[in-house]
Amino acid sequence: MPRSIETVTLPVVLQGTVRSLQVFRYGKAGAGPKIYIQGALHAGEMPGPLVIHHLTRLLDEADANGEIHGEVVLVPLANPIGFAQDLSGTHYGRFDQASRENYNRGFPWIGAEVAARIGDQLTTDARFNVQLVRKTARKILDQATARTEFDHLRLALMRMAIDADYCFDLHCAGEAPLYIYCDDDPGEGRVAEFAAQLGSEATFIHAYMEEGRPFSSAVGQLWLQVARAVGDSGKPLVQPGLSGTVELRGSRDVDDATNAADAANLLRYMMRRGIVAGDPGPLPEAKAEPQPITACDHGYAPRTGILAYTVPVGAQLRRGDEVCCIVDPSIADFAAARFPVLAGCDGILFDRAGDRLARAGEQIFRIAANEPLPHRFGKTALDD
Ligand SMILES: [Zn+2]
Repeated sequence: MPRSIETVTLPVVLQGTVRSLQVFRYGKAGAGPKIYIQGALHAGEMPGPLVIHHLTRLLDEADANGEIHGEVVLVPLANPIGFAQDLSGTHYGRFDQASRENYNRGFPWIGAEVAARIGDQLTTDARFNVQLVRKTARKILDQATARTEFDHLRLALMRMAIDADYCFDLHCAGEAPLYIYCDDDPGEGRVAEFAAQLGSEATFIHAYMEEGRPFSSAVGQLWLQVARAVGDSGKPLVQPGLSGTVELRGSRDVDDATNAADAANLLRYMMRRGIVAGDPGPLPEAKAEPQPITACDHGYAPRTGILAYTVPVGAQLRRGDEVCCIVDPSIADFAAARFPVLAGCDGILFDRAGDRLARAGEQIFRIAANEPLPHRFGKTALDD
């Protein structure tokens, strides 16, 4: 069955403006595992859409050979509202100008409602529970209503993804290698396998997080949400696949060779998980072991000024090493004008900001440690 191209039209909120999503589907619903991949939810982040562009070529070929055993749903441009936010020649794709909300926040967190509807029907059979939870979740989302354009968009994306075994939201950072946040660790080495296949240089596993509600967590932590609401460990509720947010390097790391290689890795991953037939070859050696999210340290600008990095992305740091200086050129004394920001832990500098004007309190770097950091316990991993 060839690729189907579906146009999902969002309800009209602004008279004269129609927003829609182009959705590419392969395979057949229910035939095998389902994978959902979207790009550019932060609407100016272009690595994801280019990866999906290359992935469609690979999947068209696999499809022509009858090799698609599961279901693949691709949404290359997941945010038509943000895509249109061009202000005087500068694109603003991270925040919704109308609500001031981050586009990757506030997705429907429906686990408690699922539990309220079916808590007494859950059994000791994990597979049965998966089907029941999904059926109920679909129903809740189908019945949900929205008022704002952004709320309609959130619902539209969730409806396509909620019953996926594998759900990946493609993003990018300022300056970074490829890194990954998984929403949960479903066991069986699944996080490590995905990270190794994609060549992730830092991989973190989120704890349950009620705050923020990013897209992939709203999908992937559904199982944790229902389990918490039911509160009965005898009723297994385990994520059947994997979900996460993939940061495809920095915002300017966009080119055909790099992103075609990412697409090839995603196809190999689909082969490993039985979604597409074929031999993925040996699993590449892991570049980094998955860590809990508390092994990710954040550095913040102590004041507003020029952001001058001392060390490059990839630098191996010791606690107390200088990562950058915030320079205030309005201070006449040279030394007094420089405000060093130090590493808060041993680890690898894996993420630097894309801008060189740092605003006071803004996150300006991240360091991947190889163990949980007590000073990160209980803190949010989301900074905006
Ligand atoms: Zn993003």
